[in-house]
Amino acid sequence: MSCSQIDSVPMLDLKRQYRLIGDQMDDALKNVNQTGQFILGPEVAKLEENIAQYSKVNYAVGCASGSDALLLSIMAAKVGPGDEVIVPSFTFFASASCIARLGATIKLVDISHDSFCLDPQSVQANISERTKAIIAVHLFGQAADMVAIQEIVKDAEKKYGHKIYVIEDSAQAIGAELNGVSVGNWGDLSCLSFYPTKNLGGAGDGGMVLGNNKELVDYVKLLRGHGMAPRYYHKVIGINSRLDSYQAAILNVKLPYLDQWIASRQEVSARYSKLFTDAKLTDKIVLPIALPNRRHVWHQYVIRVLDGKRNDLRAFLAQKKIGSDIYYPLGVHQQECFAYLGYKPQDLPETLKAANEVLALPIFPELTYEEQIYLVKTVAEFFA
Ligand SMILES: *Cc1c(COP(=O)(O)O)cnc(C)c1O
Repeated sequence: MSCSQIDSVPMLDLKRQYRLIGDQMDDALKNVNQTGQFILGPEVAKLEENIAQYSKVNYAVGCASGSDALLLSIMAAKVGPGDEVIVPSFTFFASASCIARLGATIKLVDISHDSFCLDPQSVQANISERTKAIIAVHLFGQAADMVAIQEIVKDAEKKYGHKIYVIEDSAQAIGAELNGVSVGNWGDLSCLSFYPTKNLGGAGDGGMVLGNNKELVDYVKLLRGHGMAPRYYHKVIGINSRLDSYQAAILNVKLPYLDQWIASRQEVSARYSKLFTDAKLTDKIVLPIALPNRRHVWHQYVIRVLDGKRNDLRAFLAQKKIGSDIYYPLGVHQQECFAYLGYKPQDLPETLKAANEVLALPIFPELTYEEQIYLVKTVAEFFA
């Protein structure tokens, strides 16, 4: 930033990243143009290999979006009518909608207050003979309590005598770890999104399914291409969800920077926490924390604003040209399209509370200290 007088802070500014690596991105697209191969192809194969290696899993399958990665995963788990799938209510819509699309029953569970991720006790209370799968969302860049989830699943499998699939929704958490183990290694399958605003974002939609079981991942691969093998011979009814070569080429350029971007996000997060604490604002807002034994990749820095002041604070920030966002203003159980599930807002109290309190602040690798100081000063002004 050349100008030292900050008078606005964007929620996200991808142009700053382009200024740093734009030439490489442009060259990568040029290469794709020259090969004339625009869907799957060598760039996608290379990306699948690179991401598998980065996430320390055996296999990866590129697909059209994170939403499709989730749908493909539960299709591979053979979820269908009569089955129940457990998913936290406090998440992006796509974590849950895939279940309804397969005609299965959505069992929404609550979140833990500190992690914003699914609460193992709530999972325990909702697991049943009909549970076919659990979608564990690693929200905001931090791994859910997978040790507890695995234990609950193991007990239930013994009790009910059938497999229960664990699907990780790692859309916000590539690179996150729990007990030194990367997300992607805790479930049967793990889903990534390369939506442009994610920590590793493409220049359009993209997604990936990761796993360590060859048979299961091969089935995902079959499903992503209309269940076709060989060409025009369809073994099962799949979908069309392939990854574009353009996206893979861009992501192959960006992946080597991911760890340094994560380190920058961790710095931004630590600076916010210090600035808010020094400004004595921690009785007005609750700061997000990295839980023990986690590598938090800080996809979002989400505070809780107490005393019902969240929306007023957000409006005040907007007036001062400071970006912020609300992930998410409603739990899945409060969505109009899921009214048929029959939940009342209070049925999932931690989700409801989070939906009313959370405010996501700007966090991205190129965000400057000066911008953070301006933001924290403005928050202090609001509460003064
Ligand atoms: C972004 C996101 C998705 C969906 O990914 P798309 O690529 O946008 O389809 C799913 N789950 C979570 C938690 C996400 O943040």
